[in-house]
Amino acid sequence: MSDKTRVLYIEDDVGSQRLVQRVLENHDCEVLIADEGLQGIDLARQSQPNLILMDINLPGMNGREITSRLRGLPNFSSVPIVALTANNNPGHRERALAAGCDGFLTKPIDVVSFPNEVHHFLEGYRERLDNEEKLTHLELHTHEMVARLENKIQELERVNRRLRELDEMKNDFIALVSHELRTPLTLLEGYTHLLHDRVSGSPETYSQDMVRLVDGLNVGVGRISQVINEVINVTRITSGTLQLSLGPVRLGDLTSRVVEEFRQTIAERQLTLTVGDFSHLPVIQADGKQLSIALKNILSNAVKYTPDGGRVTVEAHLMDDAIDITVSDTGIGIPVDEQRHIFEQFYVLESIDHHSTSKSAFQGGGLGLGLAIAQGIIEAHDGRVWVESEGHDPRNCPGSTFHLLLPLTQKSQNVDEETA
Ligand code: ADP
Repeated sequence: MSDKTRVLYIEDDVGSQRLVQRVLENHDCEVLIADEGLQGIDLARQSQPNLILMDINLPGMNGREITSRLRGLPNFSSVPIVALTANNNPGHRERALAAGCDGFLTKPIDVVSFPNEVHHFLEGYRERLDNEEKLTHLELHTHEMVARLENKIQELERVNRRLRELDEMKNDFIALVSHELRTPLTLLEGYTHLLHDRVSGSPETYSQDMVRLVDGLNVGVGRISQVINEVINVTRITSGTLQLSLGPVRLGDLTSRVVEEFRQTIAERQLTLTVGDFSHLPVIQADGKQLSIALKNILSNAVKYTPDGGRVTVEAHLMDDAIDITVSDTGIGIPVDEQRHIFEQFYVLESIDHHSTSKSAFQGGGLGLGLAIAQGIIEAHDGRVWVESEGHDPRNCPGSTFHLLLPLTQKSQNVDEETA
C-alpha cells in the first residue's frame, strides 16, 4: 500500500479529471477517478480515501445526493468531502454544505493554489453554515431529493410496464410461430412415419443409403416435433391455459412407464437407475399425461447431467397431506445461487459450446424449458418443485435431488374417467 494521500475525485468531465489528477499527483497524492455516483460510492468503500472531491452536476445521482449517501455510511462521517463545481449560482454553496460537504471550490481550478486548498481540508479545515442557514438549505435539499425520487419511480414504473408489454409480445410471438409450425409439421411427421414404416418394413427392397437416410429423417423430424411441443407446452403454462384432465393415477405405474423410456439410454451410459417402493402410495387424482411429462423432464436431466457409470434414484415418500417424489443423481450438481433460476424459461447454465441436440448424452443441451414445464405442471396440481444440491462440481460430482411435492387432495378440476 502506498503511503501517499489518497484522493477520490467523482467527476464525469474527462478534461477536469485529467487536470486535477495531474496537479494533485505532482503533490504526492494518489488520485482515483469515478465517472458517476454509484461507481464513486463503490470506489469510496473499497479504497477508503483520505479526501473526496465531488462534482455536483453528474449524470444519475448528483453530487449532493452522493454526499448525503456517503455520510450515512460507516467510516464516512468525518472524511472531508469537498464540492468542486462550475456552478457558482447563489445558494449552491449553501446547499452543498447542508448536504454534507465540508467545502465548496469552483472550477476551473487555479493550478497554483488548488493543492494548498486541498491540503487545508486534509488538515482539518471545514466550511460551516450557521444552524438556521443549514436548516433552510437542508430542507431545500430534501425537497429536491424527494422530487427526483418521485420522477425516478415514475420512470421505473413506465419502463416496467413497457418490459411487461414486450414480454407479452414475445410470448405471443413464440406461441404464434410454434402453432404455425405445428400444422405443417404434423403433415411432415405423418409422411415421414409412413416412409419409415415402409422402408424399415422391407429393407431388402431399398439400398442401405436409403434406409439410413429415412432413419435420419425420422429422428430429425421427431426431434423438431419434440422441441415445438416443448415450446407450445411452456406457452400454455405461462399463459395459464394448461387444462388438467384429472383422473385416478397410480404413481408407481406412471413412474415405471416413464423409467422404461430411459432403459436404452441407461444401458448405453452404464448408469444404475433404482426405483424405490411406490406400493404404499394411495391412488391420487391427477393428470397422468402431464405428470409423466414433468417426471420425464426431471429424469432426463438427471440422466443428462450424470457422468457415465453414475446412479439415478427415484423414490416416493408419503407425508401427512402430500407425496414427495424425489429424483436424485450423482451428477455434476447445480450452483447454489442458480438453483432458483433454473426453473425459469430458456434458462440454461452450461455454455452453448457444450450444446448437442442429444436428450441423453452427458451434458447434452436443451432449450432450457424442461424444468419450467415440470414446474408449471406440478404447480397446476397445487404442488411444488425444488432442488437440493451442494453446488456445481463436475470433478467430484456432488449430485442433485429434485423434489416433486404433490398434495393428496386436489382443488376441484375436470375429472376424466381416463386412468394414467
Ligand atoms: P434443458 O431442457 O435445456 O435441460 P432445463 O430447464 O431442464 O433445460 O434445465 C435448466 C438447467 O438446469 C440445465 O441447463 C442444467 O444446467 C440445469 N440442470 C437441470 N437438472 C440438472 C441436474 N440434475 N444436474 C445438474 N444440472 C441440472
